Amino acid sequence: MSALVRSPVGPLCAAARAVIPSIRRGKYFSSGNEPAENPVTPMLRHLMYKIKSTGPITVAEYMKEVLTNPAKGYYVYRDMLGEKGDFITSPEISQIFGELLGIWFISEWMATGKSIAFQLVELGPGKGTLVGDILRVFSQLGSVLKNCDISIHLVEVSQKLSEIQALTLTEEKVPLERNAGSPVYMKGVTKSGIPISWYRDLQDVPKGYSFYLAHEFFDVLPVHKFQKTPQGWREVFIDVDPQVSDKLRFVLAPCATPAAAFIQHDETRDHVEVSPDAGVIIQELSQRIALTGGAALIADYGHDGTKTDTLRGFCGHKLHDVLIAPGTADLTADVDFSYLRRMAQGKVASLGPIKQQTFLKNMGIDVRLKVLLDKSDEPSMRQQLLHGYDMLMNPEKMGERFNFFALLPHQRLHGGRHQMNACQSKPSAFPVAGFSELAWQ
Ligand code: SAH
Repeated sequence: MSALVRSPVGPLCAAARAVIPSIRRGKYFSSGNEPAENPVTPMLRHLMYKIKSTGPITVAEYMKEVLTNPAKGYYVYRDMLGEKGDFITSPEISQIFGELLGIWFISEWMATGKSIAFQLVELGPGKGTLVGDILRVFSQLGSVLKNCDISIHLVEVSQKLSEIQALTLTEEKVPLERNAGSPVYMKGVTKSGIPISWYRDLQDVPKGYSFYLAHEFFDVLPVHKFQKTPQGWREVFIDVDPQVSDKLRFVLAPCATPAAAFIQHDETRDHVEVSPDAGVIIQELSQRIALTGGAALIADYGHDGTKTDTLRGFCGHKLHDVLIAPGTADLTADVDFSYLRRMAQGKVASLGPIKQQTFLKNMGIDVRLKVLLDKSDEPSMRQQLLHGYDMLMNPEKMGERFNFFALLPHQRLHGGRHQMNACQSKPSAFPVAGFSELAWQ
């Protein structure tokens, strides 16, 4: 269990989670320069066997196996989030984060005509903390949402994390329906009485009017890596090291591989990472949003097509060699937002990426912090509120490293460019919250 604690006081009275010693995957980590041990993990044994029998594997295949292999994957059977885990995320640091995102979804729902129903779909929900905070805002604003039929849909591959999510979010007295063989592998009712379902794949989520959320999800999707050489682009593979027993190493493919088709003709970098899985998910989201309306809010650390070699491992809040003890550490690569935008293929409009600091400021984090500080008279609680704010907003911490990016129907931004659908009877005149300065009216 994480040492992070939920506030013992009333739901909207306090926002502190805990004092966090280190941060995940951002700039706050120890260099991990200790001498590298290489224990032979079950995953290493599996990969060595695989490579010896069928040849070197792509970095994408390596990430996929290491993170989500159904039998031994890093994400499948462990709880890696929190102080005692390998990394920590914004919703685990401060409940203000989820509250502001909840307000973002309500604001979009209002700006697009207050549909009679919507699905909130989260990709990679971790411990369920973020959706829990969003649901609390929905309950608090029950008078606004009172005639709206809401359902929650979680896309999660991890058996362990889905159990934690169910514990966090569902009503104990209503037994969960489980069916491991079905695309909807678990179903229940949230503490506030909203239907909630779990899937392994976005494709299986019903195609209704939806708001999609992905926080620190795209960075764990597998990437292919390419290196520019005098002979042209060559893909990076992972092979068994012939010099050292039980050790893996990076090698370059001797000739061009089909995946090189992912590289842009005018690419100027000398090393590129591409995640086709991320592309497929963006295409699916774009199609759904273009067809039925709604929006997707994506938050992650990343760049706009400028960075090169960003693949790295995290274990116990420290950087970790990605080829050592696979299956015991998180693997992650910065999200290339320019690629996500390209993969939307013009079906929807995109906003961002903008810095987390700017987005949260535009969403009113300062006002929210002040309200919570005014309500809290415990010095330790106030301290934690300020500490959480600093972690989320400080440019040296998460404020500049994390970005927000949104996909929206064209008519939401440009009014009338595309055919309207039943859910959106008229183009909206409201600016999209978070992506422009907050205007108090
Ligand atoms: N959004 C959470 C957790 C981020 S960690 C937070 O911000 O705290 C990444 C999450 O994505 C985990 O829940 C992990 O189990 C899930 N995940 C990783 N790969 C996945 C995949 N291919 N499909 C669905 N979920 C995945």
